[in-house]
Amino acid sequence: MTDPDPDRPLSEPPLLDFGTDALFLDFDGTLVELCDRPDAVDVPDQLLRTLHELNDRLQGRLALVSGRAIEVLDGFGMIGLAAAGSHGSEWRLAGGEREYLPRPDGLDIAQQQFAVFAETADGLLFEDKPLGAALHYRRAPNMREAAQELAKQLADKHALHVQHGHDMVEVRVAGVDKGTAIAELLSLSPFAGHRPVFLGDDVTDEDGFRTVEDAGGMGILVGAPRRTVASHRLPGVRDVNDWLKRSLHKDKSQHAGTGTSEDMP
Ligand SMILES: [Mg+2]
Repeated sequence: MTDPDPDRPLSEPPLLDFGTDALFLDFDGTLVELCDRPDAVDVPDQLLRTLHELNDRLQGRLALVSGRAIEVLDGFGMIGLAAAGSHGSEWRLAGGEREYLPRPDGLDIAQQQFAVFAETADGLLFEDKPLGAALHYRRAPNMREAAQELAKQLADKHALHVQHGHDMVEVRVAGVDKGTAIAELLSLSPFAGHRPVFLGDDVTDEDGFRTVEDAGGMGILVGAPRRTVASHRLPGVRDVNDWLKRSLHKDKSQHAGTGTSEDMP
């Protein structure tokens, strides 16, 4: 696909079609607000209810697609939902079937060096991941360049991939991204044969946007306008939550009298 004009205006997305769509959702900055500490994000009960209700309405065609490890997502209440974690290095279907790539050589060394580096400045935060290691410099912005340089050196030396994100840099297993993660899930039941819709906020989500747009689906950028291959945009986390709820409400109206899941816990 030829990249579209980056300056074109992006319209608000139409509401979900529960008969045809498969829904892929980034987590941080899309469903929940970004936070100084990645372990401190607030996941409201209402959001969890909305996600599970969407999953029911989509007959299981909802998956989280995150840079976080699946076990971390589960700790936020995502058990029972399909997920691709660690930037596509691992995935899990709603029924619990799991698969993950082998842990690359050199990751242990990278993790050790990141941990040591994180001790050198206040506000630097090291995050250990099953298939990666991250440095967060949101509270130490003057360390950004040094963190990125260290990540590049380690990646070059150990054949790892450097992943840049919001105020963070990560080294991880190479050869996968959110685009391959969505493509993998789209090859599997119950996602196969449905129109993919993906919402994400970060530069790492562009691979996912490309996959869904190429497949005739809809990429939805969350946040301020920027260069993107997504075809639609929502301004922020609150708008995403509102859009998801409005989609559910529309679907309920259409199914009025046929029994809804409004009584879900
Ligand atoms: Mg994000």
